[in-house]
Amino acid sequence: MASAPRVRFAPSPTGFLHVGGARTALFNWLFARHEGGVFVLRIEDTDRERSQAELTQAILDGLEWLGVTWDEGPHHQADGVERHRADVQRLLESGAAYRCFCTPEQVDEMRAQAHEQGRAAAYDGRCREIPADEVERRAKDEPFTVRFRMPEGETVWDDVVGGSTRFKNSDIEDFIVLRTDGTPTYNLAVVSDDLEMKISHVIRGADHVSNTPKQIQIYRALGAAPPVFSHVPLIMGPDGKRLSKRHGSTAVGEYRTAGFLSSGMNNFLALLGWSPGDDTEFMNVDELVERFTLDRINVKSAIFDHEKLEWLNGQHIANTPSPRLTELVKPILIAAGVTTEEELKKRSEWFDSVLDLVKTRARTLNELCERVRPFFSRDLEFDPAAVKKHWKHPEEVIDRLSQLLSELSKNEAWSEEGLEAQLRALAELMGVGAGKLIHPLRVAITGSAVSPGIFEVMIVMGRELV
Ligand code: GLU
Repeated sequence: MASAPRVRFAPSPTGFLHVGGARTALFNWLFARHEGGVFVLRIEDTDRERSQAELTQAILDGLEWLGVTWDEGPHHQADGVERHRADVQRLLESGAAYRCFCTPEQVDEMRAQAHEQGRAAAYDGRCREIPADEVERRAKDEPFTVRFRMPEGETVWDDVVGGSTRFKNSDIEDFIVLRTDGTPTYNLAVVSDDLEMKISHVIRGADHVSNTPKQIQIYRALGAAPPVFSHVPLIMGPDGKRLSKRHGSTAVGEYRTAGFLSSGMNNFLALLGWSPGDDTEFMNVDELVERFTLDRINVKSAIFDHEKLEWLNGQHIANTPSPRLTELVKPILIAAGVTTEEELKKRSEWFDSVLDLVKTRARTLNELCERVRPFFSRDLEFDPAAVKKHWKHPEEVIDRLSQLLSELSKNEAWSEEGLEAQLRALAELMGVGAGKLIHPLRVAITGSAVSPGIFEVMIVMGRELV
């Protein structure tokens, strides 16, 4: 039996967890959970100047919020630099890599020329065949880089998502694996680390496809078998361009602040480029784990549809048990001054019934907070459109509602049937449709023209507040 797969998420610390990164992390995690494998977290922080501890922390916070937990790590790529250099040394010794003494100016010139001639590979290989003794001598006092010697032929792999993928090696230049300052480049470090961490499956964004032939060649030169590659399609905005800040928030943390649930976010991210094979959309994390397989990742790029995210999140809010939902919305309610910790504690059962009533209509926790507000306070924000529509003639409306309230105040039991019967009887007496009382009443007590059944609302709101 094949051993359990080992996968990794390897973000560069750029300050926040991007939607695309979160999706990559989630796919790796779902695959590991589904297969009983191991999910490794590795921070690719070799670029020390940009990689600060806070930036890394922002990524960890985002993953933690999503519930994407790691079994190993976080490892730090920077800690492996000695091993990276040792691997470069092995490449040098076998002749799979060589020292290059070209100056940046010379390389720039080659690049310009290749550009002119329409060639992909810029470096012309001029240091490939320098005799060993000359290399020894020059290396003592000349700066050098180490370049990988691309072999002839083609590099082909069977991508789980993209199928058979091939590159002509002549299109790939002898790329640098070790810089002049002795630091390893991404392609070298990533292979060295994936080998060290025994990664069996690399699942990452399709923007890495062009790195893959280089990495496969490094694996081979180090005498190792490459892992299985799955390149996940890129995420596009609704205009078909690659998702960016122009399209709105791209940081996972911003969605958290905007009142999205991590379960809604996970569900949405999972469907960005993957599908369960039927038209199921609403799935909690356990279902995602159960159904996630790599062969169901689409080749086509995925469109980030904000409406769909809101819709899915609304489904998750509606399906969250009210006591749990209370915990999630509590900080927002308190920050918005709607209620206090003590009051929520004192009236927790009552508050569950408020949430039971309103949770099917809110797409975010922030919206939920606004739907809850009328149950606590008379200090409402009235929706101007609702007021305009149902309070067009305020005097008439006030007159009718005053009569209604004095009638309802006789209802000792404050029961749903009783309230409805009284309202309908009064409307008949007034010679108007029941809607002429119901709609203005709804605006008066909820601030909005839409709410759950008005009699249910009144029951839960209680006689005094109504
Ligand atoms: N650190 C790379 C990035 O953030 C990922 C490397 C990889 O997955 O191979 O894009």
